[in-house]
Amino acid sequence: MISDVMPTYARTDIAFERGSGPYLYTAEGDCYLDFGSGIAVNSLGHCHPKLVSVLADQASKIWHCSNLYNIPLQEEVARLLVTNSFADTAFFCNSGAEAVEAGLKIVRKYQSTSGHPERYRVVTFNGSFHGRTLTTISAAANEAHKAGFGPMVDGFDLATFGDLQQTRSVITDKTAAILVEPIQGEGGIRPADGAFLAGLRDLCDEFGILLFFDEVQTGIGRTGYLFAHQAAGTDPDVMALAKGIGGGFPVGACLASERAASGMGPGTHGSTFGGNPLGMSVAKAVLEILLERGFLEHCKNMGALLAEGLNKIVMAYPELLAEVRGSGLMIGLKCLIPAGDLVNACRRQKLLTVPAGDNVVRLLPPLIIDKGHIEEALRMISGACQEINK
Ligand code: PLP
Repeated sequence: MISDVMPTYARTDIAFERGSGPYLYTAEGDCYLDFGSGIAVNSLGHCHPKLVSVLADQASKIWHCSNLYNIPLQEEVARLLVTNSFADTAFFCNSGAEAVEAGLKIVRKYQSTSGHPERYRVVTFNGSFHGRTLTTISAAANEAHKAGFGPMVDGFDLATFGDLQQTRSVITDKTAAILVEPIQGEGGIRPADGAFLAGLRDLCDEFGILLFFDEVQTGIGRTGYLFAHQAAGTDPDVMALAKGIGGGFPVGACLASERAASGMGPGTHGSTFGGNPLGMSVAKAVLEILLERGFLEHCKNMGALLAEGLNKIVMAYPELLAEVRGSGLMIGLKCLIPAGDLVNACRRQKLLTVPAGDNVVRLLPPLIIDKGHIEEALRMISGACQEINK
């Protein structure tokens, strides 16, 4: 008999009752160190006092009023985003897939209003992930995600991640944009190098097409920069955000330059819940904390410390682990054994991690972790490796 909850997830048989900082607790009192952050969502850990306070405060003022009216908090969040990025404007929604979808509409509208309605196709990459809607599964190359859901949405052409020459060959006179994750997350923490991103920028400028970064997983401090592409110094025209921006409250955003969004007037796009006061109160607090002096520096330092410790573990267990990759607090451990075995062994040590493609275990701790949490996690990962070796 089918479960009451539609069984679309293979769930681990644990339920958490509460969380505090980087820790999660079950009703039975078991404590886990959470280095998954709900897949890069709980950017400031669980129940951060400032987020709890602004959300509770907002809950007694106004929850929802619709985008038929001005929402001052939305304007404040948009201002924080545009003053700290390439962008001039932000559209708010509720999830990553919706943010990507908004960006896909923006790039088509841009081409259509600038006299090129025939440019509607978007170049995407092998190993990418952009969400689970019909359009976002069509954009990516994961056959398992597509099986049984065809026909796919037309308008995507696949290129090879990291290969500039091959990408150039995929661009046609029907191309509207290139969509890429600066570090592929679900694909297994596969970073695009700076030269690849800069090369994509040049290709876009050469062919009159837009560069669209999916920073749903890499954005909001995850890599030690507010947005991952800022490390490479290459700006996109459009960028999708979600996950960490709401710290656990469902918030998505699609940012764009004025030029890219020039066709997006009233009535062109919408979302009932997008940018509602509850979500915006939390997003504003998340951004304010991230932008405090020293916060992103802390993420970089903690990321370096974690990577250093993990590299030592890789050297100690060369039969289990191949390499450490990623940036800041978005780290992948490439495994030589099934990645799921390491995820399970870590969980037995009371450390939560997340599997990814390419046989990788992802470490995506809350950005507020300190040296002590990293030492604790490293001990647990060593313990897990020892257990596997027994
Ligand atoms: N884009 C990227 C890069 C992601 O990692 C994800 C989710 O993992 C998405 C889009 C989809 O986000 P959501 O699940 O919120 O729709």
